[in-house]
This record gives sequence, C-alpha cells and structure tokens, in this order.
Amino acid sequence: MSVNSNKPLTVLGLGDMGSALVRAWLAAGHAVTVWNRSARQAPQGATVATTVADAVTASTLVVVCLLDDASVRATLDGIDLTGRDIVNLTTSTPAEARELSEWITARGGRFLDGGIMAVPSMIGVAGSGAYVFYSGSPQLHETYAETLAVPAGVEYVGADPGFAALYDVALLSAMWGMFAGAAHAFALIGKEDIAPVEFAPLLVAYQQAMAEYAYGTAAQLASGDYTEGVESNLAMMVTSNRTLLRTATEQGVSPELLTPFMALMERRLAEGGGNESTTGVVDLLRR
Ligand code: NDP
Repeated sequence: MSVNSNKPLTVLGLGDMGSALVRAWLAAGHAVTVWNRSARQAPQGATVATTVADAVTASTLVVVCLLDDASVRATLDGIDLTGRDIVNLTTSTPAEARELSEWITARGGRFLDGGIMAVPSMIGVAGSGAYVFYSGSPQLHETYAETLAVPAGVEYVGADPGFAALYDVALLSAMWGMFAGAAHAFALIGKEDIAPVEFAPLLVAYQQAMAEYAYGTAAQLASGDYTEGVESNLAMMVTSNRTLLRTATEQGVSPELLTPFMALMERRLAEGGGNESTTGVVDLLRR
C-alpha cells in the first residue's frame, strides 16, 4: 500500500502503550496526530495537538489509549464527536465499554472497543503474537481493518461493545491463576538447593501441558456432563490436595494462593461431584 492511501488517525494518550501504537502507525506510513494530558515526548514524525478538541478534529479515526475508563470520560467530556470514529484501546470492564459506546453514539460518533493482548514491546513487531480483541460497530471494524492490523493482529468478537473487554479480562484473569500457581511453586522450592532457572523449564512445560485441559472443561460445559472423559476424579484430587497443603506446611510456605480453589473443589465434592473433574467449580462461581 502506498503511503498516501494510509488513513490518517489521531491517538489520545502517549503512555507506554499509546506511544508504541503511535510508533507502529508512523512506521507504516500513517499520518498520526497525538495528544497527551501532560507534556510528554511524542514519537518523531507525529503531529502534536495542544488540545483534545484539536486532536479529535484532526482525524476521523480517533484511537484512545488512556489509563482507565474514568480518564477516557474525563478526556472526551464536552468534545464534539460528530462524525468521529472512536476506537477505545483503554482497558475497561464490559459494562463500562457498553456505557461508553452509548455515550459516544449519542453524541454522533461510532464506537469500537478493543482489549490489547500484548505488552508495548510486542506492538508493531511481526510475529510477536500481539493481537487486539475488538467489538462494537461492525462497520468500523470493516472500514479500518487494514489500519487496525498495523500494530497488532485483529480479533473481532462481535457487535456487542462489551465483548472485547470480556474476552480480554477473561484471559487476564486466567493468567493470574497461572501466575499464582507459579509463585507458589517457586516458594516451595525456594528454601532448598534447587536453582529457580533450572526449575523454570519444568514448570513452564507442565503448565503448558495442563493448560490443554481447558478444552475438556469446555466440552463438559457444552454437554452438561461433567463426568465425561474424566481421568482425574474430584474425590481423588481433593485427597491429593491435602498432600499439597502438608507439603506447603513442611516447606514453610503459606497456602493462601491454593486454598480458595481447593475450598471450591471440596464444596463440589460435598454436593456429590466426586466422579466429576473440576468443571463443577465453574457452576459454583456462577451462582
Ligand atoms: P501508562 O501509565 O504508561 O499511561 C497512562 C496514560 O493515561 C498517559 O497518557 C496518561 O497521561 C493518561 N492518563 C491517566 N489519567 C488520565 C486522566 N485522568 N486524563 C487524561 N489522561 C490520563 O499506561 P499504558 O500506556 O501502559 O496503558 C494504557 C492502556 O493500555 C491502559 O488501559 C492499559 O490497561 C492498556 N494496556 C497496557 C498494557 C501494557 O503492558 N502497558 C498491556 C495491555 C493493555 P499523563 O502522561 O498525563 O499521565
């Protein structure tokens, strides 16, 4: 694509992520107008707008990448959004994204929300695996598919403006569970003569192998039969949990990261789920 056919755009927010996005679009030949609340060095080649109104007027496509939903509201409050296409890459909750969509649409703009599944160093780097969940206006997604694909892959998950945030937060929440498990494992070996750097490959390989079990959970949730294909039944796992807790005590490690999930497994067992896997925990959480 020639430089001239690249769509110009405005980016509000020059934090770590906003700056990375701007650099990627500039490198791809887009004209980029930027605005930031406080004075910050703008990436070379960007046009700096001194007010939000000027920045929003400069381009039809306005990408917002600020700290949180409150900062987006504060920044766009009172700004004329007539005919503007707002793509919000600020992390928010599904409800916040839906309300923001209504707020922007009522003021004459179109809205697409995005959840970035990458850190700044992955942005604009081919093969980095960076991608963004998008949801909201299908027309906006179609119009800007090429432009949005510059900094990271595009994963459009539907017209509901809350879905991008929901997918984003669901994956981030799963990530914390994984990090919690890794933190506990490192603490367990921490008092022994075991090198964390030698332990790490074993930990990563095991977590990767166990991550595959999410497919089984999904299949059981779809069928409603939580005993389907069970190899490790809940009754056995609750017993084995006691070994994990005794080991934590022996090693002088707090069990506080393990016990919430274990308590849910025990509740499901008490309700008669001994022949199931751990899928019943999902139902306990949904109550
Ligand atoms: P930074 O903390 O680096 O930057 C925050 C930005 O928000 C700055 O531009 C800051 O302006 C602005 N800001 C904060 N409060 C306000 C306000 N009240 N009004 C106007 N502007 C405000 O954050 P990032 O750039 O890293 O993150 C931006 C978004 O991207 C967040 O929603 C984050 O969750 C998301 N994200 C970030 C990732 C990362 O690894 N960095 C990964 C995935 C998503 P000022 O310079 O004036 O303080």
